[in-house]
Parts: sequence; C-alpha cells; structure tokens
Amino acid sequence: MAKETLDAGKPTIDIASLANRIEEGERAALARGITLIESRRADHRAFANDLLELLMPNTGKSVRVGISGVPGVGKSTMIDLFGATLTDKGHKVAVLAVDPSSSRTGGSILGDKTRMERLSVDRNAFIRPSPSAGTLGGVAAKTREAMLLCEAAGFDVILVETVGTGQSETAVSDMVDFFLVLMLPGAGDELQGIKKGILELADAIAVNKADGENIDRARAAAAEYRAALHIMTPQDSVWSPPVMTVSGQTGDGLDDIWATINQHRDALQAVGRLDEKRRQQNVRWMWSIFDDQIKALLRDQPNIAARVPELEHDVAEGGVAAARAAATLLALLRDNPDT
Ligand code: GDP
Repeated sequence: MAKETLDAGKPTIDIASLANRIEEGERAALARGITLIESRRADHRAFANDLLELLMPNTGKSVRVGISGVPGVGKSTMIDLFGATLTDKGHKVAVLAVDPSSSRTGGSILGDKTRMERLSVDRNAFIRPSPSAGTLGGVAAKTREAMLLCEAAGFDVILVETVGTGQSETAVSDMVDFFLVLMLPGAGDELQGIKKGILELADAIAVNKADGENIDRARAAAAEYRAALHIMTPQDSVWSPPVMTVSGQTGDGLDDIWATINQHRDALQAVGRLDEKRRQQNVRWMWSIFDDQIKALLRDQPNIAARVPELEHDVAEGGVAAARAAATLLALLRDNPDT
C-alpha cells in the first residue's frame, strides 16, 4: 500500500484544514491524518494531538467491533463479506487491524488489499492495515486513534481485526464495544486449546466455515463451546455471550452476527453500561499512554541511559542480579535533580 507523504520538508501542517477535510469524509485526508498519527516524529506527534483534539467532538458515534481468531480461521474472508452486507444496508464501514508483528515491508494481516476484494473497491468502506511493527501498546494506541479519525470522517461501523494472540486480543477488546471471537469447526482438540482468557473477553463466539461438509462439525463445535462458556464464565445479568455458526464464504449467519451486535448494544445501553464501558476504556487508555511515555522519559535520562549498557550486560551475564540492577536504576532516578 502506498504510504502518504506528510510534506516532510515543511515545518507546519494546516491541521484545521486537514480536520475539516476529514470531517467532510475526504478519504485522502483521512489516510493522511492516520499517517500523521502513525508517525514517530515528535513534531508530527504534536500535530496529531492537535488534530485529535479538533476532531474529538465528532468521535464516538460508531459501533466498534473487534474480530479475532487464529490465522486461517477466515477473518479476512468474513470481514470482506460482513462489511459488504453492512455497506449494502447503508453503513459506512472502516476496517482497522492490530498486529504488532506486521510491518509495511513484510506484509501485514491487512496489508494485501486483495484479501478483501469487495471492500477494497467499496466507496463506503475504508481499509487500513495495522501500523508497522512496534510495541503492542504503541500499535494499539495508533489503531485506537485511527478509529477516532474514521469516526470523525463519518464511518459508523468500525471493525478492528486482530490475530489470535492473547495480548493483542486484550488490547483490541479494550477499544471496542463488542468483541467477536471466530473459531474453527471441529471442536475436540481445539476446545482443549482455548485459552480461558479469550472466552472471558468474548461477547459472542462464531464457529466459522459452517458450510458444505463442515456444517455438522461446526454445529457440534458450537454446542461444545456453549457448554464450555456456561461452565467457565460467570453469568452476567445483562449479557450472556451466544455461540453461533457462520460462513464468511456463503454469508450464512452474518445477519445473525449483526443482530447480536445490536442486541448487545441495546442491552448495555438500557442500563447505561455502554457509556460506562467507554469511559473506563478512555481512562485506562490515558494511563497506558502515560505509562509508556513515562518509561521512555525515564530511560532517556542521561544518568540512567549512561548506565544501561553496562547494567544490561552484567544482568545478562549473571554477574548482577536483575533486582539489584533495577534498584541501582531506581536509586539513580531518585538522585537525579531533573526528575
Ligand atoms: P484469516 O487468516 O483468518 O484472515 O483467514 P482467511 O480469510 O485468509 O481464510 C483462510 C482460508 O480459509 C482461505 O483459504 C479461505 O478461502 C478459507 N475460508 C475462509 N472463510 C471460509 C468459510 O467461511 N468457509 C470455508 N469453507 N472456507 C473459508
């Protein structure tokens, strides 16, 4: 995917005009705004914060859905068709991804747009690959901000895709209203392998590829997941995660997924839980950004940075205990008049 330029030579960016163009739904402006957000340059970061502040009043109005599952479970196939059924209904759908292992050169889970043939040519859809490799916290923060930009640009359904690795699933579930876990048919072995944590995050489980010869196996798997959910997760008075069978290829069950997302929304809204959930997510997000930045700030203190190579070496070689080295760094921090 071509990377938009940020006028690297120019000292300023007209953020007010960029914000206006994003709010008018101009796709190139949206893409440029996201590129600005993803930039590692300190001056770009300041512009990105200004941009987010300007757009903030127009954010928050979308249905935010996370979709996870192991590679090969059929995420891109399903998102392509699911997204297309939603644009058919008149929605504007943005597809984002969190994949800390991706890089633009090495390809990412959404890097190859041809994987979503329908959506990539749909005027009412916008696909953005995962930010290039970085810490999970960094990638998730950028995706979250990209989500806000998409909302300001008028996208009313945001689908955030992630691969099935525990930590990125937690990060995505913490930025969405509804978290869908896709599973493969053929329970048994798979069921043994499900991490309890994933079931606890799921607002619904969909056994995918329930088509052709797979249908019976998919139904059997669904029954097993249903039983497992019942045993493993505490009953919630407002929402019990349903287990469905779907096919991202034929489209069977995709309407049920959309209906379930809306039922979940209604159920949470009726008791004020959706707003509460988003408020809590925002506060956790603030702390996670703060934690990341303060760590970087402290590690960059000259007297700390000067000692790090030696301490890392000593700890790696076993000459100094990790706890002792950490205590040394903390002592340096306390002695530092600048902190
Ligand atoms: P992802 O890695 O989770 O994004 O999975 P993909 O969407 O790339 O699909 C992986 C493979 O499964 C591809 O060969 C698809 O053609 C196939 N596949 C995806 N969805 C379905 C489905 O609903 N039914 C069947 N039978 N195959 C599917």
